[in-house]
Amino acid sequence: MRGMSLSIKGSEEMKFHELKREEVESQLQTSTQRGLTTEEAEKRREKHGSNELMQDKLPSAWIVFFHQFKDFMVLVLIGATIVSALMGEYIDAAAIFAIIIINGLLGFLQERKAEKSLQALKQLSAPQSLVLRDGEWKKVQSAHIVPGDVLKFTAGDRIGADVRLAETIDLEIEESAMTGESVPVEKHALPLREDAPGLGDMKNMAFMGTLVTRGSGVGIVTAIGMKTAMGNIASMLQQAGQTETPLQRRLEQLGKILIAAALFLTLLVVVIGLAQGHELYTMLLTGVSLAVAAIPEGLPAIVTVALSLGVQRMIKQKAIVRQLAAVETLGCTTVICSDKTGTMTQNQMTVTDAWSGGRHWQISGKGYVPKGKFFEGTTEISPSSEKSLYQLLTFGLLCNHAELKTKENEFIIQGDPTEGALLTAALKAGLSREQLSHTFTIEKEFPFDSKRKRMTVIVRDDKGSRFAVTKGAPDVLLKKCDFVLWDKKREVFSAPYQKQTEEMLQALAGRALRVIAIAYKPLQEESRANESTDVEEGMTFIGMQGMIDPPRPEVKKAIAECRQAGVKTIMITGDHKETAAAIAKDLGLANKSSQILDGQALSELSEEELEKAAEKTSVYARVSPEDKLKIVRALQNNGHIVAMTGDGVNDAPAIKAADIGIAMGITGTDVAKEASSLILANDHFATIKAAVEEGRNIYENIRKFIRYLLASNVGEILVMLFAMILAMPLPLVPIQILWVNLVTDGLPALALGLDKAEDDVMKRPPRHPKEGVFARGLGWKIISRGFLIGAATLGAFMIVYNGESDNLVYAQTVAFATLVTAQLIHVFDCRSEKSVLARNPFGNMYLIAAVISSFLLMLAVIYIPQLQVIFHTVPLEAREWLLVMGMGALPTFLLAGSLFARKRK
Ligand code: ATP
Repeated sequence: MRGMSLSIKGSEEMKFHELKREEVESQLQTSTQRGLTTEEAEKRREKHGSNELMQDKLPSAWIVFFHQFKDFMVLVLIGATIVSALMGEYIDAAAIFAIIIINGLLGFLQERKAEKSLQALKQLSAPQSLVLRDGEWKKVQSAHIVPGDVLKFTAGDRIGADVRLAETIDLEIEESAMTGESVPVEKHALPLREDAPGLGDMKNMAFMGTLVTRGSGVGIVTAIGMKTAMGNIASMLQQAGQTETPLQRRLEQLGKILIAAALFLTLLVVVIGLAQGHELYTMLLTGVSLAVAAIPEGLPAIVTVALSLGVQRMIKQKAIVRQLAAVETLGCTTVICSDKTGTMTQNQMTVTDAWSGGRHWQISGKGYVPKGKFFEGTTEISPSSEKSLYQLLTFGLLCNHAELKTKENEFIIQGDPTEGALLTAALKAGLSREQLSHTFTIEKEFPFDSKRKRMTVIVRDDKGSRFAVTKGAPDVLLKKCDFVLWDKKREVFSAPYQKQTEEMLQALAGRALRVIAIAYKPLQEESRANESTDVEEGMTFIGMQGMIDPPRPEVKKAIAECRQAGVKTIMITGDHKETAAAIAKDLGLANKSSQILDGQALSELSEEELEKAAEKTSVYARVSPEDKLKIVRALQNNGHIVAMTGDGVNDAPAIKAADIGIAMGITGTDVAKEASSLILANDHFATIKAAVEEGRNIYENIRKFIRYLLASNVGEILVMLFAMILAMPLPLVPIQILWVNLVTDGLPALALGLDKAEDDVMKRPPRHPKEGVFARGLGWKIISRGFLIGAATLGAFMIVYNGESDNLVYAQTVAFATLVTAQLIHVFDCRSEKSVLARNPFGNMYLIAAVISSFLLMLAVIYIPQLQVIFHTVPLEAREWLLVMGMGALPTFLLAGSLFARKRK
């Protein structure tokens, strides 16, 4: 077992599974009490390297650069360079070659940027582990784990390295990634004596990449990276999603159609040109330039850049995209299904009410600050003198793993916030875990999970008596109790007591409080306690604690904005129906009880009935994670595009099935994150809304530059085609067409990719996911604008040319300037789906800068003598500039005017 070994002192191989915990600690020079120091961890990291199986390296810069030249279009251009050189047209050859290089460089820079940001994205969603360093549990990137580190993991975590287990509570690990066996294996922390057991028999080891399905554990890292058992098996790296989006694929197909169309038109121009008596060489070069003009070769690169820049904006808003395709789907979302606790609420639970045997107490205080007073009615009381209250608080602390810490003068909870609230309430009464540990020992635990909705511990007190304490959802626990503590006496839980308890539960839940009930059961020495069912029956109900978890402040507004955008919000919670209803009302989600469905009612519905009910339901209460999958399916069958949040292991199927699976960044388990396409770094509902908005914006921006680039291309082809049909000389010299296409067009297109959203982007209904690239009139806009640009350019050319061959170079320069100007004005039209007048032209400063620099580049070509030779241009005078400006503005002016006239009618 090479994977099991590590030599700290360069000693011989160790078989960690055979050693006792203390021996493992001493071998690895670490302690399960304090872990490694940060300094020691740094040293070990230098020595042993990063805890990674394989490193994804960026392709080398050279490869990316040469990649730019494998395009069909570039090959055509290289052909053109060779033809020009052979014909002795060295200036043309050099110019075309320079343009190829400039184009290659631009493509290279764009691709490099996109690659880098994708890489950074991977880093952001890299797995983390809970590691003991300097005596404190800290979340660190799993890549930074070193041998000797002490790790803690619970259900839903992936193990970050190979560990020898030091403590386990009901730990079960699914090791199918390693052994192919999908049944989870029970683990323990005792030394093994068998000789060379197989991986599947290593019950006291946990392996990198395997999944905790139940319970929790602590382990000492024995091997990292390629030295782990997984490293031996190697190459089982989970890839984070595909990198090509549906739109990119569609554009690729579209590109092929455009190439065919472009080649056909080009051929047409060449044939007509030859028939009209133009020279073969000129027509060949014109053909090449036109083909280049017509093929939107820059499009895929700009789409990638726009997507990756959008993704970076999302990161700033705390939404981490794991699959690029999600960016597009986000814009189509019609329903957001969100967890309540922590996503819509603050996950800052504070116990405000306690109730036992018909008596009701209030507890003051805010958040997790362990200071507060106890009242019965308006009278302050001392909790230690109220036996039943004190017992309720004590048991709430016994059945509890949360820890209270201070961070930057704030009290925070490590662990489950529900348990944090119970802990804080107990601390307010002067109780402490330290103090309880003198009297009580926990012998066993049946952990909490969202399906059971309860947790039980078996406790032995200092007198040797054994009993079980259970805390959990009151409606679940009530069914498990045959007795009740009333007036310090144990009574049969008869109907009148039950009725009073239920009434209190309704009252507390109706105030949006999460209610936790607490029960216990004395156990005989000989009674079985192996399974939870052995003890969670015939219990005695002690009382309830009600805790408030206030809604996050921005959620109400975000829900309202989603509604305006045609996106419905649905709250899904494991909490009680009344609690959920009260919060939903606060958030403006549901007012009528018919909009609320609980898990019980849901389980009685058939698939069709659920589909029907799903349309009007806004809140699902007391549902288990498995129900989420049913809800996703029902909504999808109704034609919805569903975004679904989740954090636990059991949420993963629903997250995977949803169109947009969203995992919580803070509270989410590794499994949930792996299944997701989007991670909320701050667990916040408003972030989902922001991501939907950004998704819509990115898509709109992509439409903007598709429109701009294609309309420009159409304009260029048409001007040449019309000229040939009208038996005119060439209005543009080939090298000018190349220049416009490969140099001046690119910057404004990129700047459109950075445009801000139109004001009404969240006031429109969601886009249909099957909608084509040219939907909503985009195709017509491209052709009509392209036609106008072509006509204006040809018009300017004809006016100056006037049938005199002496005027030709002049007229060609004017046509060149008019084409560029018309495009640079048209780019502002592309910013809105409505009209050029709809937006402030100075709203996108990148675009202003891009337009100015493209214009300056054009001036350089016209006025710098050396460039004049290459580009066949001559300086223009004021009169011609007036014509250029007038004709350049004409297409946009005509469109704005016609729109204005239509509106007045
Ligand atoms: P939401 O679904 O809104 O995010 P949630 O995920 O916190 O809520 P669950 O964790 O599934 O909901 O909890 C379901 C119910 O189980 C709660 O309403 C509560 O009554 C009970 N519960 C929650 N946490 C614990 C715990 N640590 N121990 C015992 N019972 C708990």
